[in-house]
Amino acid sequence: MPMNRIQFQPGMSLSQFLELYGTEEQCEAALQQTRWPDGFRCPRCGEQEHGLVYGRRHRRYQCRSCRHQTTVTAGTIMEATKLPLTKWFQAFYLVGDAKTGISSLSLMRKLGVNYRTAWLLHNKIMQAMSEREKTYVLRGKVQLDDAYLGGERNGGKPGRGSENKVPIIAAVSLDEAGHPIHVKVAKVETFSFAAIADWAQDALARGCEVIADGLACFRAVAEVGCTHQPVIVNGRHPKDLPDFRWINTVISNLKTSFSGTFHSLRFEKYAARYLGAFCYRFNRRFHLEEMTGRILRATCNCNARPERILRGAELAT
Ligand SMILES: [Zn+2]
Repeated sequence: MPMNRIQFQPGMSLSQFLELYGTEEQCEAALQQTRWPDGFRCPRCGEQEHGLVYGRRHRRYQCRSCRHQTTVTAGTIMEATKLPLTKWFQAFYLVGDAKTGISSLSLMRKLGVNYRTAWLLHNKIMQAMSEREKTYVLRGKVQLDDAYLGGERNGGKPGRGSENKVPIIAAVSLDEAGHPIHVKVAKVETFSFAAIADWAQDALARGCEVIADGLACFRAVAEVGCTHQPVIVNGRHPKDLPDFRWINTVISNLKTSFSGTFHSLRFEKYAARYLGAFCYRFNRRFHLEEMTGRILRATCNCNARPERILRGAELAT
């Protein structure tokens, strides 16, 4: 099984993590290196000469030319953070290392912060991961399937009619040997032609060969120049068909992750961000040892988001 290569890779041990990012100075240096690989540049005027101002929390960089002050987190999703950088890095490590995801509650306990702080930290990191994922499209041969996630929240109606049950489209691209390359999973409003056409616009490159079951709405992939090869399931469970092997694995991993880790999650509101983070981890499954550094880069490249935007998730995604 090719999955063994993933399961048995060394990754980054806790001691390696602490050696690299154990102190505030190390974290700041790593952040500085990621944001300004060629040295500091004033975000206002581009000047490189600067002085340092020591404040209560984080050091400020003052431009020698225009006197503008900035911090190493300004302009990123970490902007104006009151937390030590070590907590952020510990969160990068824990979020990146958790194969089936980690809950905000678990993050709260592991980091020793309150729940609101853990929730925000977690959601900012997942937002950055999701935004990074959005820049990719699937190419070549793609398996596609529809599914529902969630629906078991306390107090909600059970079953298909539950308001917390979210329709999703999952897709996986395959290489020549039929092994999975990348996944994309997104929430859709409904399984309609228009919704699938919108999804395909964001998720598929032109010319994909899409393999899916006979659900009529999947014909919508033709709208973005892809071909659709319907596989008629004909009474057999799609799991039994080799054509759907990888997409079934992805959907089953997702269901395990969501029911085990995020059982009280408000799917209808936050699904997009959690799905983005799931795909981010899956798509980097061969690079576990680099995960902390990659998540750091994603958070540096993601703009600041106020809490009200993150909580009104539909606006932010
Ligand atoms: Zn300046």
